[in-house]
Amino acid sequence: MGIIVAKFGGTSLADSYQFEKVKRIIESDPDRKYVVPSAPGKRFDSDNKVTDLLYLCKTHIEHNVPFDQVFQVICDRYISIAFNLKLSIDLQPHFNEIKAKIINGASKDYIASRGEYLNGLLLAEYLGYTFVDAKDVILFDSKGRFLEEETDDALGNVLLKCEKAVIPGFYGAMPDGSIRTFSRGGSDITGALVAKALKADVYENWTDVSGFLMADPRIVKNPLPIKVITYKELRELSYMGASVLHEDAVFPVRQANIPINIKNTNEPDNPGTVIVSNLEKQDEHVITGIAGKKDFTVIAIYKNRMNSEIGFMRKLLSILEDYNISIEHLPSGIDTLSAVISNNSINGKLEDVLDEIDKRLKPDTVDVLSDMALIATVGYGMSQRRGVAAKLFTALSEAGVNIRMIDQGSSEINIITGVENNDFEKAIMAIYNAFVNE
Ligand code: ASP
Repeated sequence: MGIIVAKFGGTSLADSYQFEKVKRIIESDPDRKYVVPSAPGKRFDSDNKVTDLLYLCKTHIEHNVPFDQVFQVICDRYISIAFNLKLSIDLQPHFNEIKAKIINGASKDYIASRGEYLNGLLLAEYLGYTFVDAKDVILFDSKGRFLEEETDDALGNVLLKCEKAVIPGFYGAMPDGSIRTFSRGGSDITGALVAKALKADVYENWTDVSGFLMADPRIVKNPLPIKVITYKELRELSYMGASVLHEDAVFPVRQANIPINIKNTNEPDNPGTVIVSNLEKQDEHVITGIAGKKDFTVIAIYKNRMNSEIGFMRKLLSILEDYNISIEHLPSGIDTLSAVISNNSINGKLEDVLDEIDKRLKPDTVDVLSDMALIATVGYGMSQRRGVAAKLFTALSEAGVNIRMIDQGSSEINIITGVENNDFEKAIMAIYNAFVNE
């Protein structure tokens, strides 16, 4: 017998119908002994997530506006789940307590955490699992910083005594008992921490998509699914916007070498995507996935004999630091240095930064390329095969895409190409077709 930790996201637990699916999934494998729920999410596009409504209660209070109506909408979500599933739990005392605390100035974190707390109570009864309040096992220090080792110990001690348990996601507590949440989407982190503490065989992350696709389906029609991906590849792809999982959820399980399986509650037989440390065998494709983002600015600096000018790069970095601008990439040549910056980060400051560069670096020329898009073509297979870059650039040139920048970095599993925003979709399609529909 093994241990599977299964985390279910908000849409997987949005109503009683979804709860029924979750129960079927859990009961179909006796190893699914530890379950981490999110708060109820959207049932349809224009619906609200319970967590958003809870934050809205806090905003009402802050503006001295009555929050009863919003609060009632939240209560109704839980009441209808409990009613439809014929649960015996009496929710009213919980609602009363939460409402009283909100009136008495409860913190934003406390209020937000009640979404997961209440959902955990319902799910525990429905499954017949023990409810373990996350405030006793997910621990933060008095400044609100997460305590890794203490949490690992607490989770291990408490959970190994329960054969089967539900632990609500997203929150924990500080030493004085006050509730602290992770950042949004943080139930993924709770699930990862539970998996690590229990040395689970696999951390299942159940959501409403069947894992990752090789490219954005809004750009490429019916892209193939990614069956297996390494943590490193995932990091490169999620940096470029391919996100299903909270970034911080990866670290605990990666450390413990526990694979993550992203699965779809609405399509449980689909194997989804498995995230692993190392690939045992090469997948059939050279590349694992393609992702990209629009709206970058490139400042390209040329200065004769730049390579022998000590401190040149440091000066550029310190100018950008002075203006609180974060740099995404820094491709360099012998006498050239470019800084790739997201438009959001540099908007409104570009002129001042250019003046400063002129003054302090005395370059021969500075070119600014605005409205650039970056595309990451990622895959372990790339480092082991020849001709990958050639194929990539040929595909782009045949599609009539002008490549403005290339950055391979040293990881060898990612080639980043900079193209104009207007060419973004065309470029992704061309790369996909070259490698997948060969
Ligand atoms: N319910 C929280 C949120 O909406 C946490 C989560 O779902 O992971 O951000």
